[in-house]
Amino acid sequence: MNPALEPFKHLRFDNSFTHDLPADPESKNFRRQVAGSCFSRVLPAKVAQPALVAHAREVAELLNISDEVCRSQIFAQVFAGNVVLDGMDPYAACYGGHQFGAWAGQLGDGRAINLCELVSGSDERWTLQLKGAGPTPYSRGADGLAVLRSSLREFLCSEAMHHLGVPTTRALSLVLSGEEVVRDMFYDGRPRAERGAIVCRVAPSFTRFGNFQIFASRGEADVLKQLADYTIRTDFPHLGEPSPDVYVAWFAEVCQKTLDMIVHWMRVGFVHGVMNTDNMSILGLTIDYGPYGWLEDYDPNWTPNTTDASGRRYRFGHQPQIAHWNLIQFANAISSLIERVDPLQAVLDAYPKDFQTRWHSMMAQKLGLRRFEVETDKDLVADLLTLLQLVETDMTIFFRKLAAVDCHAEDNEGGVENDSDVETDGELLRPLRRAYYQPDQLTAESRAQIASWLRRYRTRVRQDGRPDTERRQQMNAVNPKYVLRNYLAQLAIDKAEAGDASLVHELLEVLRRPYDEQSEYEKHAEKRPEWARDRPGCSMLSCSS
Ligand code: AMP
Ligand code: MG
Repeated sequence: MNPALEPFKHLRFDNSFTHDLPADPESKNFRRQVAGSCFSRVLPAKVAQPALVAHAREVAELLNISDEVCRSQIFAQVFAGNVVLDGMDPYAACYGGHQFGAWAGQLGDGRAINLCELVSGSDERWTLQLKGAGPTPYSRGADGLAVLRSSLREFLCSEAMHHLGVPTTRALSLVLSGEEVVRDMFYDGRPRAERGAIVCRVAPSFTRFGNFQIFASRGEADVLKQLADYTIRTDFPHLGEPSPDVYVAWFAEVCQKTLDMIVHWMRVGFVHGVMNTDNMSILGLTIDYGPYGWLEDYDPNWTPNTTDASGRRYRFGHQPQIAHWNLIQFANAISSLIERVDPLQAVLDAYPKDFQTRWHSMMAQKLGLRRFEVETDKDLVADLLTLLQLVETDMTIFFRKLAAVDCHAEDNEGGVENDSDVETDGELLRPLRRAYYQPDQLTAESRAQIASWLRRYRTRVRQDGRPDTERRQQMNAVNPKYVLRNYLAQLAIDKAEAGDASLVHELLEVLRRPYDEQSEYEKHAEKRPEWARDRPGCSMLSCSS
């Protein structure tokens, strides 16, 4: 064994995907349609000068790789794809998908190469995947590479989402390739050379709805069944041996996991930006961080993706419906496995109501209420969401500061009732001031409307009976103080492109504890500065990456 590879010799690989599923018999790496196969074996391209920009120590720990090894040169070599370890079996998966509502045919891992499945000490199975490691049979017209700006965004955001408690793929490392990659960032015919980079993504599985769709679309029923059975046995073993009933139970669980993920997105203000069915994980993980974004001012119609600017299919407020639409496409793909379609239809029909219930209880949590009472809270929530759009309001700061509003202010006798009406609107709004982007929008009229809502809220909290300290604690555990604001990611990119990764490290650090005050990092909790309002990368992104 090469002594340089000693630090990896304890790693256990068990490549079940490539072992159990049909492989593309063609071993040459050229772009093509691949029939009847779940994957094609392919090696990562070698790059000139791998250099580590950042790594996530928690992910390394999951994989049983020490921090010291992560900082070594050989680590950068392995996770740039220059060195393939013994026991790895690199491949690109075949999948299809609906893009922006239209069937797009074969897509596949065009710039992702799965290295291996690593079984960690606790018997967890992790697939390690390099993104941007060179062309594969699925690269179509593109180069298989990725640039620093998009890789950095993926690296930071997947970790930020994890620490926020949102189901997501993880990121082990961000490595510069030492090579240039040409991109036309604005699609305006002015390409420029950018720094190439590779992210190592980590997840129990990267299987997408599109992996099943491709076989259904081609009438490859055998392969479809093999992939479904493999997925159930590997990732849903508690459901038991595959059978028509188990397929239905599996579908119901995929729906629940997807729904759970979307509720989390709505809670933290995340907009995926490209919810094509090839970007929907079978495990309900947030996957494929492209032109995603974070709501700054609360606007359900906002999308960060310039490619989607006209139709806004993937806007914030539409994500629950799109997830449902995507689940319908997934149901269509697997329906041949089940003799009857009604059970799948029944699961799909339950989705809107299930979503509503889960979304309501999430909103109750954001408001610090013990439970959602339809009679009062339906209007309370709906009116709040209208108010948040009346005046440009930072969603993250608003909910964080709402916790600070006194709902049980004590009177002189030490009782808990306070005559709220004696408080002026201005006093009532004071804790929320920082959430407003344009103070001149806070006219007497809008202030009165907000104050009136706050009084209703206070009454509701008192009726709920939760003391302020307890309510604050509960609210601050679901309303983050720190999210990867679009302009913060862009600042980190600007610096990293100039060779300084310090802001990447600092953001990774602060985003590890998004619900903690961390007063030393207060500046990263500030609302978007005016310069970032219309700056590309801060408010809008193209798919070019
Ligand atoms: P995405 O928009 O990232 O979900 O990508 C859609 C499809 O395009 C997937 O099959 C990707 O693998 C592929 N793709 C995106 N960028 C590239 C690239 N630079 N080289 C090769 N394939 C790519
Ligand atoms: Mg994708």
